This record gives sequence, C-alpha cells and structure tokens, in this order.
Amino acid sequence: MPTKLTLYNTLTRKTEPFKPLDPTKVKIYTCGPTVYSSPHIGNFATYVYWDLLLRVLKFNGFTPYRVLNLTDVGHLSSDADDGEDKLEKGARQSGKTVWEVAKYYSAEFLRDFKKLNLIEPDVIAKATDYIPQDLELIQKLIEKGFTYETHDGIYFDTSKFPRYADFARLDLNHLKAGARVEFSSEKRNPSDFVLWKFIQPSEKHDMRWDFLDRPGYPGWHIECSAIIHNTLGEPIDIHTGGIDHIPVHHTNEIAQSEAAFERKLANYWLHCNHLTSEGQKISKSLGNGYTLSDLEEKGYSPLDFKMWVYQGHYRSERDFSLESLEAARVRRLNWRNRVARCYQEEQQNDSKTAEKAISFSEIIEPLNEDLNSAQVFALIDNTNYTNLFFWQTIESLFALGLFEGYEQESEMYIENFIEKTSQLASPILKKRAMARAEKNYAESDRLRDELKQYNLTVLDTPNGQIWQYIK
Ligand code: AMP
Ligand code: ZN
Repeated sequence: MPTKLTLYNTLTRKTEPFKPLDPTKVKIYTCGPTVYSSPHIGNFATYVYWDLLLRVLKFNGFTPYRVLNLTDVGHLSSDADDGEDKLEKGARQSGKTVWEVAKYYSAEFLRDFKKLNLIEPDVIAKATDYIPQDLELIQKLIEKGFTYETHDGIYFDTSKFPRYADFARLDLNHLKAGARVEFSSEKRNPSDFVLWKFIQPSEKHDMRWDFLDRPGYPGWHIECSAIIHNTLGEPIDIHTGGIDHIPVHHTNEIAQSEAAFERKLANYWLHCNHLTSEGQKISKSLGNGYTLSDLEEKGYSPLDFKMWVYQGHYRSERDFSLESLEAARVRRLNWRNRVARCYQEEQQNDSKTAEKAISFSEIIEPLNEDLNSAQVFALIDNTNYTNLFFWQTIESLFALGLFEGYEQESEMYIENFIEKTSQLASPILKKRAMARAEKNYAESDRLRDELKQYNLTVLDTPNGQIWQYIK
C-alpha cells in the first residue's frame, strides 16, 4: 500500500498529510517572476522544485490545476514600497519601452521554462491583464475600512487586520522600534503596504491607469490576490513561493485577500529555500547569478541543471557551483545510458532484470515525505535492477529528458529521442557486427568512429553491442 503524501506547511510549521478540497482539481498558485531581466538559476530552481510537486500530486492520483503570474508592473526595487518600479527601471536602462521589456523577458522566461521540461501552467496570468480586478479588490478594501490614502498612494492599514503578524511570526513591536529612525513617510505602521501608487506630475511612469481621477499603478502584492480570486477562488489548496516571500509578500497577500473576502486564502503554503552560488549570495555584481543560457554556453543542458536541483531538498539552502553541476551532468549521462541499455535489451527481448526492478512504492515513499527526491536518486544509483518501465516512471516524475531531449543545435525539443537515436545507430551497429564476424577490425573501428557524429559510441557486452551516449 503506497504511503500518503505529506507536505511541510509554512502556515502551521508542520509536515502534514495533504488533503485537497477536490482531488480532481487541486488548486495551486505559484508566484512567478518579475519580468524585467533574465532570471538567474536561483529563480529557476523554484519553478523546478514546484514541477516535482505537480508530478508527485499526479502520481498520488490528484489532478493539479495551477496558475502562475508574471509580474509585469509595480514591483518596486525595495520591499518597503520605495525605490523605482523594476520594470520602468529596466526600460530606462535598456532604452526600450516598458511594454517591450515585459514582452521580451516574459518570452525568454517561458522559453527557458520549456527547456527545463516543466509542466505548462494551466493559466499564465500577466499582472497588467488584471488591473480592473485589482481595482475591484482595492475598492472592496476601501469600503471595508482597511485602507488610508497618503499623497503617494492607497495603503493597507495592517493594524486593522489583527492576524497580520501570525503567518510569518513577525514581531511588530520590534519592527516598529527598528523603523523609528528611518520611518518618515506618511505610513501609519511600518508594516503597512501600498495597494495602489499614485503617479506624481513630475514622475515618469509609462504604465498607468486611472483610479480616483488620478493616474497610478498597482502595488506588487495586490496582483496575486486579484488573480487568485478571479482564476481559482479562495481557499486554494497550495500556494508556493520562495522563503523571501514569507515576511512581506505572502503576509500581505493573506492580509488583503482574507480582509476582503473573509475566507482563508490557502490551506498549504510551501516555500523553497534560496540558492547561493559559489559560496556567496547570488548577485549581479559578483557575476555568480548564472542564467540558463550561461550554462548552455558552457556546454550544459538545462536538464543537467534540473538534475542538480533535484539532488537536494527544496527546503535546504543549496550552494551551486560549476563543479557540482558537472557531477550532476555525469550522473544524468549515466542514467541516460542505463535507459539506452534497457531500451536496446528490451528491443532484443532480453529483459532479464525486469522482475527484480525497484518497486513503485520504493520510489513514491520518499517523495511522499515532503518531496525527498535526493533519497530516490540514491536508490537509483544503488541498484542494478532496472527496466524500461522503471525508467519511464522516473521520467514521469522528474522529466530529466531520459527518453526525450532538447537538442541545443536545432533549439528543438525532441520526443522519442531514444527511438530516433536507435534508428540512427542500429544500421551502423549491424554493419559493425558483420565486420567483427569477418575479423575486419579496421572497418569495425571506422564504424565506431562513424557513431561519433551522433554523439554516440558502442559498448561490447556479452549479449552483443549496445550504443551509448558520449554526452
Ligand atoms: P522575482 O523574479 O524576484 O520575483 O523572483 C522569482 C522567484 O525566485 C521567487 O520565488 C523568489 O523567491 C526566488 N528567488 C530569488 N532569489 C533566489 C535565490 N537566490 N535562490 C532561490 N530562489 C530565489
Ligand atoms: Zn505572489
């Protein structure tokens, strides 16, 4: 009997059995990227972790329905509601319009999402497509008395929402004491946050909408509450994000949604930890915030990075380095070659190891314990007994391109890559078997070299020849 799925819930700080409201539509919301620059691998690691969540849910017989937002307006460069809008800043620096910047980086993000073989969200919601819904929600909060107006915007008064500090276990008194020195705005409480920002006559802000007879734009947090309300409806089952979202962004989402709709926003909150890179916090100035394209330029597949991500747990802090990526690449190559071997053996009807393969429950058990992929990986490395069905199961969970592949040269994702490869290799292997039978070793070596053009080599086993990937 397979185990039941348990997940660590930030809301309760406990690992709990997962019980969806409706198993045929598990409602999931993932806070997406701010599309003003190329995401670094730290950003992408989060979406890779949540892809495993979706696949493990499916494995447990649930049907996930997931919404992901793209923040294309209103994310200020500081969480304290000051600084410039990241999108407008990106536009100013690149000489493009803010709409062009958003379009360019959204497309880049979705392209890389595909390269990582991540399940496409059921809804991709652009923040700028939900402005009327933001305003409807803000209007509701105004009517219910949760807001106040200052010269630069409409703010949420966190003192009106008594549970404000609960989610992140915030110490509001400490927050107040710390803020006293710098705290000079018209905010009533340091934790208050902007729902709608007014554009001052002297200010250049290209994305603008009218509200209360003045131009303005939404604060960062409101979009997630408005999108969830309009695409999924409260409560949702699972809300995901990075740990940096706990004290501000998710705390604010809960306050504004639960104040407006008087329903719990989400039953389970999952947060992944951050990546450091080469021992340091990822930062542009240190140049350690690799993008997926950087890794591809160094000869790695995005799926090697995915392998690297799943070698650790989503709640552990991880340190990325090119050496550890290289180890993940070698491990993935090894697995692909094991799959290739199973594939060829089963084609020759010689699947002796089939009966002894690891059982389904051995794979799902660690995953059901809060997504422990690393344990499954160790299990795979430590067994010789696998068959094609086993690898298909592994592939459906981790989507590491063990059968399929992203071909860098043609920028194409190829399904049944293994079948195509086999079709290429088989005639050459046949000719080589004949050459060897005739003891024509020069021809046999030439044929081995011929395989190289397809990044393949040949292994001579007691049961005959097997093609293997070189990289
Ligand atoms: P952003 O585009 O800044 O909104 O971030 C997108 C996602 O990346 C969020 O879920 C963040 O929590 C996450 N994130 C940002 N920096 C890191 C990092 N160094 N490691 C892992 N995740 C990160
Ligand atoms: Zn969000």
